[in-house]
Amino acid sequence: MKYIVLVGDGMADRPLKALGYRTCLQKAHTPNMDRLAAEGEVGKARTVPPGIDPGSDVANLSILGYDPSKYYSGRAPIEAEYRGIKLGPSDVAFRCNLVTLKYASASGKGGHDIGNAVMQDYSAGHISTKEAALLIRDINKKLGGKDISFYAGMSYRHLMIWKNGMEKMQCTPPHDISGKKTGAYLPKGKGAEELLSLMRRSAEILTSHPVNQKRISDGHNPANSIWLWGQGRKLTVPSFNEKYNLKGALISAVDLTKGLGICAGFDILKVKGATGYIDTNYIGKAKAALNALKKYDIVYVHVEAPDEAGHNGDLKAKMQAIEDFDKKVVGTILEGIKKSGDCSILLMPDHYTPISVRTHTSEPVPFAIYRSNGISGKPKTKARAYSESICRMKNVLVFDKGHKLMDYFVKGK
Ligand SMILES: [Zn+2]
Repeated sequence: MKYIVLVGDGMADRPLKALGYRTCLQKAHTPNMDRLAAEGEVGKARTVPPGIDPGSDVANLSILGYDPSKYYSGRAPIEAEYRGIKLGPSDVAFRCNLVTLKYASASGKGGHDIGNAVMQDYSAGHISTKEAALLIRDINKKLGGKDISFYAGMSYRHLMIWKNGMEKMQCTPPHDISGKKTGAYLPKGKGAEELLSLMRRSAEILTSHPVNQKRISDGHNPANSIWLWGQGRKLTVPSFNEKYNLKGALISAVDLTKGLGICAGFDILKVKGATGYIDTNYIGKAKAALNALKKYDIVYVHVEAPDEAGHNGDLKAKMQAIEDFDKKVVGTILEGIKKSGDCSILLMPDHYTPISVRTHTSEPVPFAIYRSNGISGKPKTKARAYSESICRMKNVLVFDKGHKLMDYFVKGK
């Protein structure tokens, strides 16, 4: 038996007036996901344990079969793992976003008071990886040193490593405060002063930087500050192969999920044109997954686009992402597995990213399990379509501990 996990990041949502009080999944044209639900088993899973912030890292850690309450140590160490940055036991990794802050005084008079600004854009206008690399290089040159180093990543997502650093301060994900005043969300607690000083000095370096001057003249949001969050020490989990005796591969455009794959002992498969946004290479991902089934027992396919659309509050983009995911990923996979013998598919979002709140929420997510050789024994309730309404149906599979779902998927019990 081969296994495929299909994760549409953040694709679950809440009823919207603009959709006649239906959700995106209910309104979107999704014949392939509906087929998986109708011919498979359905249920709900709590991928984010109570008391933990609903991040993609936590939720995908659960889907991979690991209990976040036991293993989770922050977002940045997982991304560092993917970037091949070796973390010592006392090193702390921080996610370093390039963001656009709108300073209280347009002229920037009063200096670049990052506490007296508005979070205009958590992604600095989805700045290109090339431009960002130039900015992070200069930030590292001017702010880096014996204990502090900056590492460039994709688009607005970068890392800072603090050797022998502190991690107990409270930081806020910038995509949670879009359009809000920054003052109340600056780092707080032990070690926060060090972070604030780095953020303030970054604003001075970035505001006059030629890359940003060009972005402004081209009408793009400038990356005029760094924003530090998601900190933690190295993540250590038992390998997936040890746990399930299955050799795995993972396909994603996002460092975070790729980092999780590496922590679990999966091989990371590269797909040209995978962007982590609505212009990603959906079909390329699906074809790479089908091809990988020849060599691997399980393939994990993660698609980021619906989540980005949710964070942007962009309903049209989210509907497009869901329909593309259904047609180009799920559809291609369903067609392709006809040739690859017995195959089981687990379809789910990692969490909700409701358009109405533009951030992640923690309610249990709907899943469907499809087995090409049919479902053994009498499945519980059949669903006619795949959507959040599965979570309200009676007599469906329920995993309050979402990390137990993987056991059920691969062991059937
Ligand atoms: Zn996510």
